[in-house]
Amino acid sequence: MNILLLYPEMPETFWSMKYLMKMISKKSSYPPLGLLTVSKLLPNKWEKKLVDLNVTNLKSGDVEWADYIFISAMNVQIEYAKKAIRFCKLFNKKIVAGGPLFTHEFEKFPDVDYFILNEAEITLPLFIEDINHGTPKKYYTTKDFADVTQSPLPDWSLIDLNKYAYAIVQYSRGCPYMCDFCDVTALFGRRPRTKTAAQIIEELNKILELGHPEIILFADDNLIGNRVDLKKNLLPALIDWRRNNKTAPGFATQVTINLSDDEEMMRLMIEAGFRNIFVGIESINELSLEDCKKTQNLRRDILENIKLLQKKGFIVTGGFIVGFDSDNETVFDEQINFIQKSGIVLATVNILKAPPGTDLNKKLQIENRLIEPFDFDENKTNIITKMDHRVLYNGYKKILDNIYDPKKIYERSHQFISNYGLHKAEIPIQKEVTFYDLIVLCKIICFSGFIGKGRIYFWKLIIGTFFMNKKNIVQALLFGAMMFQFQKLHDKFMVSYQKISSQNLEYQNQ
Ligand code: SF4
Repeated sequence: MNILLLYPEMPETFWSMKYLMKMISKKSSYPPLGLLTVSKLLPNKWEKKLVDLNVTNLKSGDVEWADYIFISAMNVQIEYAKKAIRFCKLFNKKIVAGGPLFTHEFEKFPDVDYFILNEAEITLPLFIEDINHGTPKKYYTTKDFADVTQSPLPDWSLIDLNKYAYAIVQYSRGCPYMCDFCDVTALFGRRPRTKTAAQIIEELNKILELGHPEIILFADDNLIGNRVDLKKNLLPALIDWRRNNKTAPGFATQVTINLSDDEEMMRLMIEAGFRNIFVGIESINELSLEDCKKTQNLRRDILENIKLLQKKGFIVTGGFIVGFDSDNETVFDEQINFIQKSGIVLATVNILKAPPGTDLNKKLQIENRLIEPFDFDENKTNIITKMDHRVLYNGYKKILDNIYDPKKIYERSHQFISNYGLHKAEIPIQKEVTFYDLIVLCKIICFSGFIGKGRIYFWKLIIGTFFMNKKNIVQALLFGAMMFQFQKLHDKFMVSYQKISSQNLEYQNQ
C-alpha cells in the first residue's frame, strides 16, 4: 500500500514568519509533527512519502503513486487544505483526513472519503483494521484521550530537517485552564497527559542526529500544565541532556503567566535550555479576562511578571486580543502602552474570534452572534462584536501601526536588551559559528539594514547593543530581522484594511 502524507500550505501570518524564513534560508518554521507521528502508527510494510507544501510542490506523480492520501491540517490552513484536496481528487484518489481542522469542521469537506478524528493514537488503528478487512467507515471518532506514553517516535526519515527553522517535539497534551476562546481543552482535555522523560530524550537525540535546527520547539499548549511531572522528571532529564550536548539548540515553548510565580520552575527551565516562551496575555482589562475565563491572568501585575521572566532569562513573545464584550475604546491605547512598556519585542495581536469547538463558539451560537466564515487570520472575526465593528477595526489598525513601527520595535528591543542577560545559566547554550550563520548574517544586514524601511533603527539597535551589551548582539540581529518581517505583515494588513474600508464605504453610499 502506498501512502502519501500531505501537509497543506500555511498562510502568511505572525506564526509562519515567511519573510524571516527567507532571511534565514529556511523553507518553513517547523515540520508537521502530527503526520510524522501518524506515519509511525501505520503498518511498517506500507510505503510512505511526505509532501509538505510549505517546503515543496505537489507533483502529479506523487498523487498518482499513492493508494491513499492522508491529509492533516490546523484551522488556519483551511483554504489550502481545500485546494490540496481538490487537486488530489482530480486523480480520483481516496482522501483520509485528520487533525484539529477536520476534527472540528469535517462537514466542510464533502470530498474527503474517511475522517480519522480526535487523537490518531486511538482512531487510526481502528481505520487500519477496517481497511485490512475491506470495510472502512467514513468517520472514526472517540471521546477518550490517548495515552501519550505509548506514542511512537516521529518518523523523521520522511523529511529533510535542514529545511526547517525549528525542530519539534511534544511533551504534553491538554491544559488545566478553560479560556473560552481556546479549543485545546475540547481537543485534548483538562488533565495534561505527558510523555516520559526517556521518550523526549530519545526524540531529542534523534533530532541532533539529523541536523542542527536553530531552536527546538516543545509544541505543548501549556508546558507547565503538569508541574509535578515537569519538575520531577522532564526538566532534570533535560538538564542532564544539555550537560552532554553543550551546543544543542535552545528550546521554545508556550506557558501561562503564572510561571513567574514559581522560582524553582523558572530556574530549572533556564538550566534546561528554555529561552523563548510564548505567553497568552490577551488583555490587561480585568473585566475582559473575566469574560474569557482567563483566570490565571487575573489579580496580578502582568507587567512586573513579564519583566521578571525577562530578567530570569526568557525572551517573551506575548499574545494579545481585542474585541471582548467588556472592551471599550480605551483598550487600544492601553494595549499599545502596555506592549511598549513591557519590552516584548514580538507581540501578536488578534481580534477576538470564536473558533469552532470552543465554549465561546457555543455561547455565541446561542446568542445568535456568529457570522460565517470562520477565518484564523489575525485581523478577522466571526463574532458580531458589542463594540461597533468599524471602531474595533480602526482601533486594531492603530495598535498595529504603533507596535510594528520600526521606531517602536527599536525602543522595545533596546529596552529588552538592556535588561536581558542578567541571568547566568550554569550550562549556557553554546553556539558554533558556521558558514551558514555568515550567510544569514549577510541576508539580515541586506534586508533589514539596507532594504527595509526601518534601516536607521536597525543600525541604531545593532551599534547600541555592540557598545552596551555585546553578549546580546545575536539577539539584536534577530530583532532587527523582525523589523523587516513585521513591516511585511503590516503591509499585508493594510491591503486587507483598505479592502474592508472601501467595502464599508460602498455600503454607506447605497
Ligand atoms: S492557558 Fe492557553 S492552552 Fe490553556 S486553555 Fe488557556 S489559551 Fe488554551
